[in-house]
Amino acid sequence: MDNTHGTICPSCHAAASALANFCSQCGKKLKERQLSTSVAKQIIIYLVSFFLAPLGLGYAFKYIKQRDPKTRMIGIVSLALTVIAIVLMIWLTKTFTNSLYGSFNTVGF
Ligand SMILES: [Zn+2]
Repeated sequence: MDNTHGTICPSCHAAASALANFCSQCGKKLKERQLSTSVAKQIIIYLVSFFLAPLGLGYAFKYIKQRDPKTRMIGIVSLALTVIAIVLMIWLTKTFTNSLYGSFNTVGF
C-alpha cells in the first residue's frame, strides 16, 4: 500500500492529498489534530480545572470529544474536577456565611 499519493475523504470519497488538512471537494476536516496527553499537559489541565473552575470546561469538552479513550479520560477527569471545585466553592461560601451569621447571632443573643 502506497499512502503518499493521498487519502480518500471519509465524507464524499473524493481523493485528497495526504498533506491536505481539508477535503478540496466538501471541505471536511481530514486530519484530526491529536491533542496532547503528556503528563505535563494533564497537570496543567487538572490545575486549571480545579483552581480556575469554569475555564477548565474548555479543555474538558475539547478532550471529551476525541475518539481516543485516553484523551477522553483526561476530559472526563477535568470535568469531574471542575464540578468538585464548584461544589467545594459553594460549600465554602455557605460555611463561611453560616459561621458569619452564627457569630452575629451569638453577639445578638
Ligand atoms: Zn470530501
